[in-house]
Amino acid sequence: MEHYFPYSRYLKNIFGGKTYKIVVTSGLSCPTRDNSIASGGCAFCDVRASSSFFGFGFGQKNPARTVAEQIKSGMPAMRERFGAKKFLAYFQSYTNTYADAAFLRELYQAALNQPGIEGLCISTRPDCLPDPVLELLEELANRAYLSLELGVQSFEDETLQWLGRGHDSECAKRALERLRLRAPHVHVCVHLILGAPTDSPDAATKAARLINSSGARGAKLHQLMVLEGTELARRWRENPFPTLSIDQYADAVIEFIETLSPGIYIERLCATATRAEECLAPDWSRTRWTPHNRLREILAARSCRQGTKA
Ligand code: SF4
Repeated sequence: MEHYFPYSRYLKNIFGGKTYKIVVTSGLSCPTRDNSIASGGCAFCDVRASSSFFGFGFGQKNPARTVAEQIKSGMPAMRERFGAKKFLAYFQSYTNTYADAAFLRELYQAALNQPGIEGLCISTRPDCLPDPVLELLEELANRAYLSLELGVQSFEDETLQWLGRGHDSECAKRALERLRLRAPHVHVCVHLILGAPTDSPDAATKAARLINSSGARGAKLHQLMVLEGTELARRWRENPFPTLSIDQYADAVIEFIETLSPGIYIERLCATATRAEECLAPDWSRTRWTPHNRLREILAARSCRQGTKA
């Protein structure tokens, strides 16, 4: 039994086959890193955990290798290893709309110009989508598949503050509404973190309801992790705060899935720490398959079906 609508099927419906993401570094920074809002990044964020970190200096609009070079060097291995034929350029780390529209146009176009690239996945924050950027995204989305991974993280103000995001939930709701109205061809995917100690008991349910009415096409989930080198690690060492057990996290995920409309895809249920030894909590985030397998077991045992409470 399929417990939820997976992103793989969503992409297959669009492209008719498997599609692979090639991670590309834009060289852009974030308002929580360049002193616009803060300088240390969001409290949970360890950019080194991202596969696009290596070899590039953030905050430079000239990463060590051009977008075309990054794509050209990434593609052959994926063709060989997976037999991949169709690719999406994934601007994953930092805030990939944090520049003027003219610069972004060149950046995105450079990726779209590469043979084999069928579309773009662009990660960003809700407070970095001014009108000219929305217009650019909509223009490109009319020509190619364009997914915007919107780092909402939480719809609860106390949690957003605790995570050091530098924006409130209204900002995320406004961004989703503007995307719905002004960029309707963009495939918006809401990125959420579940399990902050500040979350209300029904945070997952409320988030799913908000996503249902937002026009977003997908959601991507992540448990709260305490990673070395982050503000959360400093706070956790000073005064350890609770994180969710895998079973508690599964409860939140099930609530989310059952409340989410069945037509909205789910890209991921949980994450794992890239460097196990740098994950302070929760313990289960250190291994790759144990949490995925345990979640699958719990979903099956509870006969979880997406949308049964939507
Ligand atoms: S979570 Fe996103 S916006 Fe915050 S510091 Fe990390 S990359 Fe930047």
